[in-house]
Amino acid sequence: MKKNVTIIGAGLVGSLLSIYLSKRGYKVNLFERRGDMRKETMSAGRSINLALSDRGLLALEKVGLAEEIRKISIPMHGRYIHNLDGTTAFQRYGKEGQYINSVSRATLNMKLMDLAEQHGAGIYFNHKCTAIDWKKNIITFELPGSELQTQPAELIFGSDGAFSAARLQHQLQHDKFDYQQHYIDCGYKELTIPPTPSGDFAMEVNALHIWPRKDYMLIALPNLDRTFTCTLFFPFEGRASFSNLDTKESVKGFFEKTFPDAVPLMPNYIQEFFSNPASSLVTVKCYPWVREDKFALIGDAAHAIVPFFGQGMNCGFEDCRVLDELIEQHADDWNTILGKYQATRKPDADAIADLAVNNFIEMREKTADPKFLLQKKIEARLHEKYPGKWIPAYSQVTFSPYIRYSEALQRGQRQESIMQEVMQLPDIEQIWQAEEIEHWIISKVQNRPI
Ligand SMILES: Cc1cc2nc3c(=O)[nH]c(=O)nc-3n(C[C@H](O)[C@H](O)[C@H](O)COP(=O)(O)OP(=O)(O)OC[C@H]3O[C@@H](n4cnc5c(N)ncnc54)[C@H](O)[C@@H]3O)c2cc1C
Repeated sequence: MKKNVTIIGAGLVGSLLSIYLSKRGYKVNLFERRGDMRKETMSAGRSINLALSDRGLLALEKVGLAEEIRKISIPMHGRYIHNLDGTTAFQRYGKEGQYINSVSRATLNMKLMDLAEQHGAGIYFNHKCTAIDWKKNIITFELPGSELQTQPAELIFGSDGAFSAARLQHQLQHDKFDYQQHYIDCGYKELTIPPTPSGDFAMEVNALHIWPRKDYMLIALPNLDRTFTCTLFFPFEGRASFSNLDTKESVKGFFEKTFPDAVPLMPNYIQEFFSNPASSLVTVKCYPWVREDKFALIGDAAHAIVPFFGQGMNCGFEDCRVLDELIEQHADDWNTILGKYQATRKPDADAIADLAVNNFIEMREKTADPKFLLQKKIEARLHEKYPGKWIPAYSQVTFSPYIRYSEALQRGQRQESIMQEVMQLPDIEQIWQAEEIEHWIISKVQNRPI
């Protein structure tokens, strides 16, 4: 007999998971705290658009959704850098034809919910999980008007996001539960670049725009309605910080000085700055993710990461794909499936969490540094000429869905240490294209095992 499955949280990951499990013949019910976003005008939660890359697409492909989602996403081929002096530069993300996709969080979530229902999953909205009794296998939900409802559950997945109630219930009643939570000192606030008066995109559409300013940055991703959603990643405290920009004049003065080419494109930025919240960014690492054969955390509930590699959702989608492969291998043996799921995914989630924190420094600081740009050029050339031997760390994470995050972290660190030596070579700016340099680098990769 297949277990009945209860999924807590019908966000991006919970909805995708329900499709995978329904396709495997399980009876799935999803319980979601919010109302049905397909019927109500409501915000889809954090961040309006997201970068979907090859890992996420691979997971969507397995349930036949990748093509449909590609049609409603905008390819971003590289970073479009806006320097303080008004100059701009384009840095390709990968090889010709490789790109990431800007997709609306709400549209993606709604499509996943539609597909979940088409596959037979039930979605119960306005059901907020408040307690789990692990001995009796009963979940308590709070309904509107504070009414409480209990549901029996055989196999439970907690996919209720970074501040997961399911995780808390698991943690409170688990001996030796490891928990690490770290807030970075920057938060984020969303602003908008509307279309031009003639209805066009106000900037290059097929790019992720970045205004790198060392301690902070502004980024912008395109939307299908020809707007851009900008996100200001900015310290909460300090000289240039959310707490210091507390008057219209200070915001105006700061933006005009810091993002001079963006200001004319954002007619409502001052009003938006005060009406939109400054939200925090957290990394959560925890262990164990599973409880015998009856419970597992998945997505942000298991591993919340900062958004600087654009991988949080992609990683959660990959959790679903890996879990599905384990079901394929071990049929209904959930003790084995959940044990192997945790053993495989935990090191990968830890790795992408660390990679994401490191990428903040790269995006806000290094993308404007000529030496760093030269290093990226050298790496891109090596990748073109020796694709089997050198894959830049960004490409491993973003365009190589079969390289595990933990492997990408290790390989990336090894390559970075080689590149640090290369960048110290006298006259590297002149000699970087020399064959001997390339051979020297490649010989180092071969001689330096992980
Ligand atoms: C600013 C920002 C930008 C980002 N950009 C990217 C990006 O470009 N690419 C990328 O891959 N990732 C990105 N991410 C990360 C991405 O948003 C998350 O990794 C992803 O949303 C995780 O999906 P999830 O389903 O696990 O959690 P969530 O999307 O948080 O969904 C959880 C669901 O559970 C529900 N819920 C919560 N509590 C309860 C409860 N007690 N009972 C019932 N239901 C509950 C919520 O209402 C929600 O619907 C970004 C994140 C942020 C903050």
